[in-house]
Amino acid sequence: AQERYADIRHLPATSLCGRTTALTMNAGLMADLPSLEGSGAEGVGLFRTELQFLANRSVPRRGDLARLYGRVMDAANGRPVVFRTLDIGSDKVLPYMKRPEEPNPALGWRAIRVGLDKKGIMRMQLQALIRAAAKRPLHVMFPFVAQFDEFREARAYVFQEIERERALGRDLPESVKVGAMLETPSLAFAPDRFFEETDFVSIGGNDLKQFFFAADRENERVRRRYDTLNVSYIALIEMIIGRCRDAGTSVSFCGEDAGRPIEAMCLAALGLDGLSMRPASIGPVKHLLRRVDLGEVRDVMEAARADGAQTVRPAVNDYLGRALS
Ligand code: PEP
Ligand code: MG
Repeated sequence: AQERYADIRHLPATSLCGRTTALTMNAGLMADLPSLEGSGAEGVGLFRTELQFLANRSVPRRGDLARLYGRVMDAANGRPVVFRTLDIGSDKVLPYMKRPEEPNPALGWRAIRVGLDKKGIMRMQLQALIRAAAKRPLHVMFPFVAQFDEFREARAYVFQEIERERALGRDLPESVKVGAMLETPSLAFAPDRFFEETDFVSIGGNDLKQFFFAADRENERVRRRYDTLNVSYIALIEMIIGRCRDAGTSVSFCGEDAGRPIEAMCLAALGLDGLSMRPASIGPVKHLLRRVDLGEVRDVMEAARADGAQTVRPAVNDYLGRALS
């Protein structure tokens, strides 16, 4: 499939209106990295770090993680890689970590909540990331932040660990950016200060959507009930983008919807700086983005909303039928 889009692989996702959307890929294994070249991704917008923990019989060793993260950065060959800290709990359970039975794991002790309660593991992972990034840029992102304090506390550990490395006389990252995943509706309503203090925001649409509509992302019966292009959800995304823009903070989207061309186009039209998706989606998404005017898409979405539509999808499909014919 990537062959089909080979002619645009090295071109930017610039739409007819002149706006360019950065397209990056999601990854989680060393084996994913060769896709960077083939897909034309500008970097890794989401590196999920769970697999190395899930595949092990005990907590992985810091040295092993540091080597792996270093190899991932080597393979990215200067392109940015955004490492998401351990996102366990809910559907991803570590066999070697004692945890209470939870009636609602998706709403339970997961991701940054575990990290802040089990600081040893989080600090160890941050140390591994900092070592791997010696003399090069480091991008760290914390998952499932529900309130500002959680982000502040987690970010403080990054800088404490950097100071520790400095005291040990080790090489430090050339630059450090610390961001938050926005995947709970509460964070969209955080104080302005949060949006100013975070270096970037990445919208985790898989979780954000399930919590916004109260519809389990794993439950086939309700999963598809609410359209991503539902006007209420679009209003939420638009608000998040506006808050990031007011704070001068870049904002991207890394849930599965970023890899669906029509959804990706509408998300881009709302003003996202970037979209991160599975590598095979980069070609099709770029192909569509390069053929439309995002200002027009935005107008079509606005008109449908003003009309009282529940979803902008039919209007957008009509528009595409006209625009691409
Ligand atoms: C998300 O929630 O959109 C996301 C990218 O994280 P994950 O799918 O790993 O929960
Ligand atoms: Mg998530």
